[in-house]
Amino acid sequence: PPQMPRPEQTRVMVVANQKGGVGKTTTTVNLAASLALHGNRVLVVDLDPQGNASTALGIDHHAEVPSIYDVLVDQKQLSEVVQPVRDVEGLFCAPATIDLAGAEIELVSLVARESRLDRAIKAYEQPLDYILIDCPPSLGLLTVNALVAGAEVLIPIQCEYYALEGLGQLLRNVELVRGHLNPKLHVSTILLTMYDGRTRLASQVADEVRSHFGQEVLRTSIPRSVRISEAPSYGQTVLTYDPGSSGALSYLEAAREIALRGVGVRYDGERAHMVG
Ligand code: ADP
Ligand code: MG
Repeated sequence: PPQMPRPEQTRVMVVANQKGGVGKTTTTVNLAASLALHGNRVLVVDLDPQGNASTALGIDHHAEVPSIYDVLVDQKQLSEVVQPVRDVEGLFCAPATIDLAGAEIELVSLVARESRLDRAIKAYEQPLDYILIDCPPSLGLLTVNALVAGAEVLIPIQCEYYALEGLGQLLRNVELVRGHLNPKLHVSTILLTMYDGRTRLASQVADEVRSHFGQEVLRTSIPRSVRISEAPSYGQTVLTYDPGSSGALSYLEAAREIALRGVGVRYDGERAHMVG
């Protein structure tokens, strides 16, 4: 099979975990860049008021910029806010501005408050292979909008103490949204992040996650890497900041695994960063 086969239909993946600092944003932007660098058309939807994904992609998101807030609250078209990412052909971003912090409350009184993002995505006419939605570290209406809009949930798990704590709540929310609003929603992908193969703790957590989730866990894990954490301050993903680094290679490999799984090809890559 080709390196990264393109999906037949747009795959909408929700990157969620209500814990902060587990690698949601890092995973969103680096997977998106990896997929785009291999010929996919990819849109990153920044759904976190912090706007870290927008920053990491070098996208202007100061207060006046048309943003995902306008899409959710004022029903602006997605095409009016999407910006191309410099340096990576085929990669686009719907940025978040600080306004989005208020959206969680403002949405409460609006009609179809849970499905505004879904509607906007369905009305978006540009062809896309992937839409990756970077969620805030909470399970409020912004994350619910993502879960209604997506089919797949991608959960990054940091290989640390209490890695699985709080996941039950996320999984219950996924079940609730699946039952009431979006029957196609499922957890398709678990990615182990900030993996440090030298520590016993990391391998214990990895084993625990694998025995808990099984097939959903990608064989590729993401190592802890200084290059990964440096890249956002240059408005870049690690894929352009340091393409040969272990961090870049591991995100490329994770993207390949996701792409292959999507077309039903069993992934049997053998790389040093794999766990187990
Ligand atoms: P979240 O979006 O879940 O809050 P982030 O993606 O922002 O998490 O990551 C939290 C912090 O950890 C950031 O400072 C980021 O640069 C850093 N980080 C994420 N993944 C890695 C990694 N593999 N190696 C080193 N640092 C990382
Ligand atoms: Mg984040």
